[in-house]
Amino acid sequence: MDYDLVIVGGGLAGSSIGAAMAAKGTRVLIIEREVEFRDRIRGEGTLPWGVAEARELGIYRPLLDSCSVETRWWSAPDDNRDLVATTPSGLRCLNFYHPEMQQSLLDHAVAAGVELLRPAEAAHVSPGPPPAVVTRWNGAERRITARLVVGADGRGSRVRAWASFPIRRDPGSFAAVGTLYRGLALPEDAVQFVPNPEIQLLSIIFPIGGGRFRTYFVFAHGTRPPLSGRKDQQAFVDESVAAGASADWFRDGEPIGPLASFDAPDTWADHPYRNGVVLIGDAAAASDPCFGCGLSLTLRDVRVLRDHLLGDPGLVCGSGRLRRRARPVFSCTAPDTRLVRRPVVSRRRQSR
Ligand SMILES: Cc1cc2nc3c(=O)[nH]c(=O)nc-3n(C[C@H](O)[C@H](O)[C@H](O)COP(=O)(O)OP(=O)(O)OC[C@H]3O[C@@H](n4cnc5c(N)ncnc54)[C@H](O)[C@@H]3O)c2cc1C
Repeated sequence: MDYDLVIVGGGLAGSSIGAAMAAKGTRVLIIEREVEFRDRIRGEGTLPWGVAEARELGIYRPLLDSCSVETRWWSAPDDNRDLVATTPSGLRCLNFYHPEMQQSLLDHAVAAGVELLRPAEAAHVSPGPPPAVVTRWNGAERRITARLVVGADGRGSRVRAWASFPIRRDPGSFAAVGTLYRGLALPEDAVQFVPNPEIQLLSIIFPIGGGRFRTYFVFAHGTRPPLSGRKDQQAFVDESVAAGASADWFRDGEPIGPLASFDAPDTWADHPYRNGVVLIGDAAAASDPCFGCGLSLTLRDVRVLRDHLLGDPGLVCGSGRLRRRARPVFSCTAPDTRLVRRPVVSRRRQSR
Protein backbone atom coordinates (compact mmCIF):
# COMPACT_ATOMS: atom_id res chain seq x y z
CA MET A 1 0.00 0.00 0.00
CA ASP A 2 1.54 3.34 -1.05
CA TYR A 3 -0.40 5.56 1.42
CA ASP A 4 -3.09 5.34 4.08
CA LEU A 5 -5.11 8.14 2.46
CA VAL A 6 -4.90 9.50 -1.07
CA ILE A 7 -6.98 12.67 -1.40
CA VAL A 8 -8.02 13.98 -4.81
CA GLY A 9 -8.36 17.77 -4.54
CA GLY A 10 -6.59 20.38 -2.43
CA GLY A 11 -9.60 22.60 -1.67
CA LEU A 12 -11.16 23.30 1.71
CA ALA A 13 -12.31 19.67 2.08
CA GLY A 14 -9.13 17.93 0.90
CA SER A 15 -6.65 20.11 2.79
CA SER A 16 -8.66 20.09 6.03
CA ILE A 17 -9.10 16.32 6.21
CA GLY A 18 -5.50 15.82 5.06
CA ALA A 19 -4.11 18.10 7.78
CA ALA A 20 -6.29 16.56 10.48
CA MET A 21 -5.25 12.99 9.61
CA ALA A 22 -1.55 13.70 8.96
CA ALA A 23 -1.32 15.40 12.36
CA LYS A 24 -2.30 12.03 13.88
CA GLY A 25 0.42 10.14 12.02
CA THR A 26 -1.58 8.93 9.01
CA ARG A 27 0.37 8.76 5.70
CA VAL A 28 -1.51 11.16 3.44
CA LEU A 29 -1.04 12.24 -0.19
CA ILE A 30 -2.99 15.15 -1.70
CA ILE A 31 -3.24 15.44 -5.50
CA GLU A 32 -4.06 18.97 -6.71
CA ARG A 33 -4.21 19.91 -10.37
CA GLU A 34 -4.01 23.73 -10.19
CA VAL A 35 -0.49 25.11 -10.28
CA GLU A 36 -1.83 28.30 -8.72
CA PHE A 37 -5.30 28.87 -7.29
CA ARG A 38 -7.39 31.39 -9.22
CA ASP A 39 -10.67 33.17 -8.62
CA ARG A 40 -13.45 30.68 -9.49
CA ILE A 41 -16.08 32.74 -7.57
CA ARG A 42 -16.47 30.30 -4.70
CA GLY A 43 -17.47 30.47 -1.05
CA GLU A 44 -15.81 33.22 0.98
CA GLY A 45 -18.22 33.84 3.84
CA THR A 46 -18.30 31.14 6.55
CA LEU A 47 -21.30 31.25 8.86
CA PRO A 48 -20.72 31.11 12.66
CA TRP A 49 -21.69 27.42 12.92
CA GLY A 50 -19.09 26.62 10.26
CA VAL A 51 -16.52 28.72 12.13
CA ALA A 52 -17.19 26.53 15.19
CA GLU A 53 -16.29 23.51 13.02
CA ALA A 54 -13.12 25.27 11.82
CA ARG A 55 -12.11 25.76 15.47
CA GLU A 56 -12.83 22.12 16.21
CA LEU A 57 -10.58 21.14 13.29
CA GLY A 58 -7.74 23.43 14.39
CA ILE A 59 -7.80 25.54 11.23
CA TYR A 60 -9.53 28.66 12.57
CA ARG A 61 -6.33 30.26 13.93
CA PRO A 62 -4.19 29.41 10.86
CA LEU A 63 -6.91 30.91 8.63
CA LEU A 64 -7.31 34.02 10.75
CA ASP A 65 -3.57 34.59 10.95
CA SER A 66 -2.95 34.10 7.23
CA CYS A 67 -5.85 35.30 5.09
CA SER A 68 -9.16 35.88 6.87
CA VAL A 69 -11.22 38.64 8.45
CA GLU A 70 -14.12 38.33 10.86
CA THR A 71 -17.43 40.14 10.51
CA ARG A 72 -19.54 40.65 13.61
CA TRP A 73 -22.59 42.19 11.96
CA TRP A 74 -25.21 40.83 9.57
CA SER A 75 -26.83 43.98 8.21
CA ALA A 76 -30.24 43.99 6.58
CA PRO A 77 -32.26 47.13 5.77
CA ASP A 78 -34.38 46.81 8.92
CA ASP A 79 -31.94 44.99 11.18
CA ASN A 80 -28.29 45.04 12.21
CA ARG A 81 -27.79 41.61 13.73
CA ASP A 82 -24.96 41.11 16.20
CA LEU A 83 -23.75 37.56 15.46
CA VAL A 84 -21.77 37.33 18.69
CA ALA A 85 -24.83 38.10 20.79
CA THR A 86 -27.40 36.15 18.78
CA THR A 87 -25.81 32.88 17.58
CA PRO A 88 -25.44 29.70 19.69
CA SER A 89 -21.68 29.65 19.02
CA GLY A 90 -21.25 33.37 19.80
CA LEU A 91 -18.84 33.55 16.86
CA ARG A 92 -18.51 35.94 13.95
CA CYS A 93 -18.47 35.06 10.23
CA LEU A 94 -15.02 34.15 8.93
CA ASN A 95 -14.42 35.60 5.46
CA PHE A 96 -11.51 35.24 3.02
CA TYR A 97 -10.56 35.39 -0.63
CA HIS A 98 -11.07 31.76 -1.69
CA PRO A 99 -7.75 31.25 -3.58
CA GLU A 100 -5.82 32.60 -0.56
CA MET A 101 -7.76 30.32 1.78
CA GLN A 102 -6.97 27.29 -0.43
CA GLN A 103 -3.25 28.09 -0.51
CA SER A 104 -3.12 28.75 3.21
CA LEU A 105 -4.80 25.45 4.10
CA LEU A 106 -2.68 23.48 1.66
CA ASP A 107 0.44 24.98 3.29
CA HIS A 108 -1.01 24.05 6.68
CA ALA A 109 -1.61 20.46 5.49
CA VAL A 110 1.96 20.14 4.20
CA ALA A 111 3.29 21.52 7.51
CA ALA A 112 1.20 18.84 9.28
CA GLY A 113 2.97 16.13 7.25
CA VAL A 114 0.88 15.74 4.08
CA GLU A 115 2.75 14.87 0.87
CA LEU A 116 1.60 17.01 -2.05
CA LEU A 117 1.58 16.22 -5.79
CA ARG A 118 1.01 19.54 -7.60
CA PRO A 119 0.28 20.26 -10.33
CA ALA A 120 -0.94 16.71 -10.82
CA GLU A 121 -4.26 15.40 -12.04
CA ALA A 122 -6.20 12.35 -10.96
CA ALA A 123 -7.03 10.69 -14.28
CA HIS A 124 -8.94 7.73 -12.88
CA VAL A 125 -9.97 6.12 -9.60
CA SER A 126 -10.73 2.43 -9.27
CA PRO A 127 -12.54 1.20 -6.16
CA GLY A 128 -10.90 -1.49 -4.03
CA PRO A 129 -9.72 -3.55 -2.58
CA PRO A 130 -7.36 -1.81 -2.60
CA PRO A 131 -8.62 1.42 -4.14
CA ALA A 132 -6.20 3.16 -6.50
CA VAL A 133 -5.73 6.52 -8.22
CA VAL A 134 -4.11 6.91 -11.63
CA THR A 135 -2.26 10.22 -11.53
CA ARG A 136 -0.77 12.33 -14.30
CA TRP A 137 2.27 14.15 -13.00
CA ASN A 138 5.30 15.56 -14.83
CA GLY A 139 4.11 14.02 -18.10
CA ALA A 140 3.91 10.47 -16.71
CA GLU A 141 1.11 8.29 -15.37
CA ARG A 142 1.45 6.56 -12.03
CA ARG A 143 -0.94 4.20 -10.21
CA ILE A 144 -1.07 4.87 -6.47
CA THR A 145 -2.79 2.56 -3.99
CA ALA A 146 -4.21 3.50 -0.60
CA ARG A 147 -6.27 2.11 2.22
CA LEU A 148 -8.80 4.81 1.48
CA VAL A 149 -9.23 7.20 -1.45
CA VAL A 150 -10.94 10.50 -0.60
CA GLY A 151 -12.80 12.26 -3.42
CA ALA A 152 -12.51 15.96 -2.48
CA ASP A 153 -12.64 17.19 -6.06
CA GLY A 154 -15.58 19.56 -5.77
CA ARG A 155 -19.01 20.10 -7.26
CA GLY A 156 -18.21 18.51 -10.65
CA SER A 157 -16.45 15.52 -9.02
CA ARG A 158 -15.08 12.96 -11.45
CA VAL A 159 -14.09 10.64 -8.61
CA ARG A 160 -17.82 10.28 -8.00
CA ALA A 161 -18.40 9.15 -11.58
CA TRP A 162 -15.35 6.84 -11.73
CA ALA A 163 -16.46 5.07 -8.55
CA SER A 164 -20.08 4.85 -9.82
CA PHE A 165 -21.81 6.73 -7.00
CA PRO A 166 -25.47 7.32 -7.81
CA ILE A 167 -26.14 11.07 -7.68
CA ARG A 168 -29.32 12.94 -6.91
CA ARG A 169 -30.20 16.51 -7.92
CA ASP A 170 -32.83 19.02 -6.91
CA PRO A 171 -34.53 20.88 -9.74
CA GLY A 172 -33.17 24.18 -8.30
CA SER A 173 -35.05 27.40 -7.72
CA PHE A 174 -32.45 30.15 -7.67
CA ALA A 175 -29.56 31.50 -9.68
CA ALA A 176 -26.80 33.89 -8.64
CA VAL A 177 -24.41 36.32 -10.30
CA GLY A 178 -21.16 37.08 -8.50
CA THR A 179 -18.13 39.32 -8.87
CA LEU A 180 -15.38 40.99 -6.84
CA TYR A 181 -14.90 44.70 -6.03
CA ARG A 182 -12.31 46.75 -4.26
CA GLY A 183 -13.23 49.94 -2.42
CA LEU A 184 -17.01 49.75 -1.95
CA ALA A 185 -18.29 52.40 0.46
CA LEU A 186 -19.18 49.87 3.14
CA PRO A 187 -17.89 48.86 6.59
CA GLU A 188 -15.54 45.88 6.63
CA ASP A 189 -17.04 44.22 9.71
CA ALA A 190 -20.56 43.64 8.36
CA VAL A 191 -22.12 41.34 5.77
CA GLN A 192 -24.79 43.24 3.79
CA PHE A 193 -27.94 41.19 3.20
CA VAL A 194 -30.56 43.08 1.19
CA PRO A 195 -33.60 41.03 0.11
CA ASN A 196 -36.40 42.36 -2.06
CA PRO A 197 -39.14 39.68 -1.99
CA GLU A 198 -41.47 41.78 -4.14
CA ILE A 199 -39.27 41.25 -7.18
CA GLN A 200 -37.53 38.09 -5.87
CA LEU A 201 -34.11 39.67 -5.80
CA LEU A 202 -31.41 39.60 -3.12
CA SER A 203 -28.13 41.50 -2.92
CA ILE A 204 -25.47 40.05 -0.62
CA ILE A 205 -21.99 41.47 -0.02
CA PHE A 206 -19.17 39.87 2.00
CA PRO A 207 -16.13 41.95 3.01
CA ILE A 208 -13.13 39.63 2.54
CA GLY A 209 -10.24 41.84 3.71
CA GLY A 210 -7.89 44.30 2.06
CA GLY A 211 -10.77 46.54 0.98
CA ARG A 212 -12.19 43.71 -1.17
CA PHE A 213 -15.88 42.72 -1.31
CA ARG A 214 -17.40 39.56 -2.80
CA THR A 215 -20.71 40.70 -4.20
CA TYR A 216 -23.73 38.69 -5.43
CA PHE A 217 -27.26 39.13 -6.47
CA VAL A 218 -29.62 36.16 -6.31
CA PHE A 219 -32.84 35.77 -8.27
CA ALA A 220 -35.60 33.25 -8.89
CA HIS A 221 -34.52 30.85 -11.60
CA GLY A 222 -35.52 31.88 -15.14
CA THR A 223 -36.63 35.41 -14.25
CA ARG A 224 -33.49 37.20 -15.52
CA PRO A 225 -30.88 36.53 -18.18
CA PRO A 226 -27.49 35.28 -16.96
CA LEU A 227 -24.69 37.89 -16.86
CA SER A 228 -21.01 37.33 -17.55
CA GLY A 229 -17.83 39.32 -18.16
CA ARG A 230 -16.94 43.01 -17.95
CA LYS A 231 -19.63 44.02 -20.49
CA ASP A 232 -22.25 43.18 -17.82
CA GLN A 233 -20.64 45.10 -14.95
CA GLN A 234 -23.15 47.97 -15.09
CA ALA A 235 -26.08 45.53 -15.34
CA PHE A 236 -24.70 43.85 -12.21
CA VAL A 237 -24.76 47.15 -10.30
CA ASP A 238 -28.24 47.97 -11.65
CA GLU A 239 -29.67 44.63 -10.45
CA SER A 240 -28.00 45.01 -7.04
CA VAL A 241 -29.50 48.47 -6.69
CA ALA A 242 -32.90 47.13 -7.81
CA ALA A 243 -32.64 44.63 -4.94
CA GLY A 244 -32.15 47.52 -2.52
CA ALA A 245 -28.38 48.01 -2.36
CA SER A 246 -27.33 51.67 -2.43
CA ALA A 247 -25.86 53.03 -5.68
CA ASP A 248 -23.47 55.01 -3.44
CA TRP A 249 -21.86 51.77 -2.25
CA PHE A 250 -20.65 51.10 -5.80
CA ARG A 251 -19.77 54.65 -6.83
CA ASP A 252 -16.00 54.41 -6.24
CA GLY A 253 -15.81 50.61 -6.40
CA GLU A 254 -13.36 49.01 -8.80
CA PRO A 255 -14.23 45.60 -10.30
CA ILE A 256 -11.19 43.36 -9.75
CA GLY A 257 -12.39 39.86 -10.57
CA PRO A 258 -14.41 37.80 -13.04
CA LEU A 259 -18.18 38.21 -13.25
CA ALA A 260 -20.21 35.03 -13.78
CA SER A 261 -23.64 33.47 -13.30
CA PHE A 262 -24.37 30.26 -11.39
CA ASP A 263 -27.32 27.98 -11.66
CA ALA A 264 -26.19 25.31 -9.24
CA PRO A 265 -28.92 23.34 -7.47
CA ASP A 266 -28.30 20.84 -4.66
CA THR A 267 -26.45 17.71 -5.83
CA TRP A 268 -25.65 14.81 -3.51
CA ALA A 269 -24.81 11.15 -3.08
CA ASP A 270 -27.03 9.44 -0.51
CA HIS A 271 -24.20 7.14 0.56
CA PRO A 272 -20.79 8.79 0.22
CA TYR A 273 -18.75 5.58 0.73
CA ARG A 274 -18.20 2.65 -1.65
CA ASN A 275 -15.42 0.04 -1.75
CA GLY A 276 -12.56 2.09 -0.35
CA VAL A 277 -13.62 5.44 -1.84
CA VAL A 278 -15.23 8.16 0.27
CA LEU A 279 -16.60 11.48 -0.99
CA ILE A 280 -16.34 14.65 1.04
CA GLY A 281 -17.22 18.35 0.67
CA ASP A 282 -18.97 19.40 -2.53
CA ALA A 283 -18.12 16.05 -4.14
CA ALA A 284 -20.35 14.36 -1.54
CA ALA A 285 -23.07 16.99 -1.56
CA ALA A 286 -23.01 20.48 -3.02
CA SER A 287 -25.67 22.79 -1.67
CA ASP A 288 -27.15 25.59 -3.75
CA PRO A 289 -24.64 28.47 -3.33
CA CYS A 290 -27.52 30.91 -2.93
CA PHE A 291 -27.81 29.65 0.67
CA GLY A 292 -24.16 30.28 1.50
CA CYS A 293 -23.82 27.08 3.54
CA GLY A 294 -21.29 25.13 1.43
CA LEU A 295 -18.17 26.02 3.43
CA SER A 296 -19.87 25.25 6.74
CA LEU A 297 -21.31 21.97 5.45
CA THR A 298 -17.89 21.02 4.11
CA LEU A 299 -16.22 21.72 7.46
CA ARG A 300 -18.79 19.70 9.33
CA ASP A 301 -18.38 16.91 6.81
CA VAL A 302 -14.61 16.95 7.39
CA ARG A 303 -15.05 16.84 11.15
CA VAL A 304 -17.50 13.92 10.97
CA LEU A 305 -15.15 11.96 8.68
CA ARG A 306 -12.10 12.79 10.82
CA ASP A 307 -13.86 11.57 13.98
CA HIS A 308 -14.92 8.41 12.22
CA LEU A 309 -11.44 7.66 10.89
CA LEU A 310 -9.70 8.40 14.19
CA GLY A 311 -11.97 5.84 15.85
CA ASP A 312 -11.13 3.32 13.14
CA PRO A 313 -7.36 2.66 13.12
CA GLY A 314 -7.61 0.35 10.09
CA LEU A 315 -9.43 3.05 8.08
CA VAL A 316 -11.91 0.30 7.26
CA CYS A 317 -14.75 2.52 6.22
CA GLY A 318 -16.62 -0.32 4.59
CA SER A 319 -17.50 -1.69 8.01
CA GLY A 320 -20.95 -0.24 7.49
CA ARG A 321 -20.78 2.67 9.91
CA LEU A 322 -19.53 5.09 7.29
CA ARG A 323 -21.86 3.70 4.66
CA ARG A 324 -24.70 4.75 6.92
CA ARG A 325 -23.22 8.24 7.41
CA ALA A 326 -25.18 9.36 4.36
CA ARG A 327 -24.30 13.03 4.82
CA PRO A 328 -26.58 13.52 7.85
CA VAL A 329 -25.91 17.23 8.01
CA PHE A 330 -26.86 17.73 4.41
CA SER A 331 -30.05 15.75 4.76
CA CYS A 332 -30.96 18.08 7.66
CA THR A 333 -30.20 21.34 5.90
CA ALA A 334 -31.58 20.48 2.46
CA PRO A 335 -35.19 20.36 3.76
CA ASP A 336 -34.57 23.67 5.57
CA THR A 337 -33.46 25.36 2.40
CA ARG A 338 -36.50 23.92 0.64
CA LEU A 339 -38.64 25.62 3.27
CA VAL A 340 -37.03 28.91 2.33
CA ARG A 341 -37.44 28.20 -1.32
CA ARG A 342 -41.05 27.19 -1.35
CA PRO A 343 -42.63 30.60 -0.65
CA VAL A 344 -40.44 32.26 -3.27
CA VAL A 345 -41.25 29.71 -5.94
CA SER A 346 -44.96 29.52 -5.22
CA ARG A 347 -45.10 33.33 -5.18
CA ARG A 348 -43.57 33.29 -8.65
CA ARG A 349 -46.13 30.76 -9.88
CA GLN A 350 -48.96 32.88 -8.46
CA SER A 351 -47.67 35.99 -10.18
CA ARG A 352 -47.63 34.37 -13.63
C1 LIG B 1 -20.89 30.88 -6.84
C2 LIG B 1 -20.65 30.18 -5.52
C3 LIG B 1 -20.71 30.93 -4.34
C4 LIG B 1 -20.55 30.30 -3.12
N1 LIG B 1 -20.64 31.06 -1.98
C5 LIG B 1 -20.55 30.46 -0.78
C6 LIG B 1 -20.63 31.24 0.43
O1 LIG B 1 -20.77 32.46 0.40
N2 LIG B 1 -20.54 30.59 1.60
C7 LIG B 1 -20.38 29.24 1.67
O2 LIG B 1 -20.34 28.68 2.78
N3 LIG B 1 -20.24 28.49 0.55
C8 LIG B 1 -20.31 29.05 -0.66
N4 LIG B 1 -20.13 28.30 -1.80
C9 LIG B 1 -19.80 26.85 -1.68
C10 LIG B 1 -18.30 26.60 -1.40
O3 LIG B 1 -17.50 27.30 -2.34
C11 LIG B 1 -18.02 25.10 -1.51
O4 LIG B 1 -18.93 24.40 -0.69
C12 LIG B 1 -16.60 24.74 -1.10
O5 LIG B 1 -15.66 25.47 -1.86
C13 LIG B 1 -16.38 23.23 -1.31
O6 LIG B 1 -15.03 22.93 -1.10
P1 LIG B 1 -14.43 21.57 -1.71
O7 LIG B 1 -13.03 21.49 -1.17
O8 LIG B 1 -15.35 20.45 -1.48
O9 LIG B 1 -14.39 21.79 -3.31
P2 LIG B 1 -13.56 22.81 -4.21
O10 LIG B 1 -13.40 24.12 -3.53
O11 LIG B 1 -14.22 22.81 -5.55
O12 LIG B 1 -12.10 22.15 -4.34
C14 LIG B 1 -11.86 21.05 -5.19
C15 LIG B 1 -10.38 21.00 -5.53
O13 LIG B 1 -10.13 19.79 -6.27
C16 LIG B 1 -9.24 20.07 -7.35
N5 LIG B 1 -9.50 19.04 -8.38
C17 LIG B 1 -10.67 18.82 -9.04
N6 LIG B 1 -10.54 17.76 -9.87
C18 LIG B 1 -9.25 17.30 -9.72
C19 LIG B 1 -8.53 16.23 -10.30
N7 LIG B 1 -9.09 15.40 -11.23
N8 LIG B 1 -7.23 16.05 -9.94
C20 LIG B 1 -6.67 16.87 -9.01
N9 LIG B 1 -7.32 17.91 -8.43
C21 LIG B 1 -8.61 18.12 -8.77
C22 LIG B 1 -9.63 21.49 -7.78
O14 LIG B 1 -8.58 22.11 -8.48
C23 LIG B 1 -9.93 22.14 -6.42
O15 LIG B 1 -8.74 22.74 -5.87
C24 LIG B 1 -20.29 28.90 -3.05
C25 LIG B 1 -20.21 28.15 -4.23
C26 LIG B 1 -20.39 28.79 -5.46
C27 LIG B 1 -20.32 27.96 -6.73
